[in-house]
Amino acid sequence: MPNSPASTDKGGPCPYCTNTIPAGRAVSFCPHCGLNVTVAQCPACSSEVEPGWHFCVTCGRDVSALPKVADAATRNAKF
Ligand SMILES: [Zn+2]
Ligand SMILES: [Zn+2]
Repeated sequence: MPNSPASTDKGGPCPYCTNTIPAGRAVSFCPHCGLNVTVAQCPACSSEVEPGWHFCVTCGRDVSALPKVADAATRNAKF
């Protein structure tokens, strides 16, 4: 099993274009549309929500329940 320091190695669909993001490597940008996949997006207004934010700076929506994709937010991961 490779030693992967980053947490964005699970792959899965891009939240913007829904194409598959490659698994097994640290991916910062969608290879299909260029979206920065390390940054979550507000479900209400699609503004970028940085790790650790609890509310969208644009519309004020509670985004604390968004999945954390960036490294900094997953330092406490179970493994
Ligand atoms: Zn994409
Ligand atoms: Zn918003």
